[in-house]
Amino acid sequence: MISADGSDFVIADSCIGRVVVSESDLQRRVAELGRTITADYAGRPPLLVGVLKGACFFLADLARAIDLPIEIDFMAVSSYGSATTTSGVVRIVKDLDADLTERHVLIVEDIVDSGLTLSYLRRNLLARNPASLEVVALLVKEGLQSVDLDLAYQGFSIPPDFVIGYGLDVAERYRNLPYLATYVEGG
Ligand code: 5GP
Repeated sequence: MISADGSDFVIADSCIGRVVVSESDLQRRVAELGRTITADYAGRPPLLVGVLKGACFFLADLARAIDLPIEIDFMAVSSYGSATTTSGVVRIVKDLDADLTERHVLIVEDIVDSGLTLSYLRRNLLARNPASLEVVALLVKEGLQSVDLDLAYQGFSIPPDFVIGYGLDVAERYRNLPYLATYVEGG
């Protein structure tokens, strides 16, 4: 069987809706972002800070597209739980191992919806005295942000539907879909 984005990776599940970004478009854009970041950070290799768990697939691919001696670290913040609407509450569930003092820090985010998570993370990490702090977000939902995002790098702007795949879940499922799709509730 062939999946909606043309790959032979199929999870038979009626909750998986239409393809929002195909596997090949994801890989192409991540490679482009890697090349841009490689050029921008020449001579000052960044510490990539991934936001668990959603950004781990993006970070793994992006890290391999950056031709610099980077380091990686992870933190986890509470977001939606298993519901599909924002709680507005952001809490650090797992903190970084690395000391950020004088480091060039690049936050790697999967998706920006209201922007509340990112705005909290930025304030929190800036207080740790990095040499620089920028953000790369794979996905930004169109028109939903109440805060100024100030993203140095952005993968795709997508419609404000709830999406799954490439790291993004519903109740821990669908992260391993190699493309992004809409989620069909009760589908
Ligand atoms: P924000 O704070 O910007 O409203 O939400 C950011 C976080 O909410 C993301 O890191 C992600 O965990 C979750 N999120 C936002 N939109 C979606 C979505 O469409 N699908 C999934 N699976 N998670 C989302």
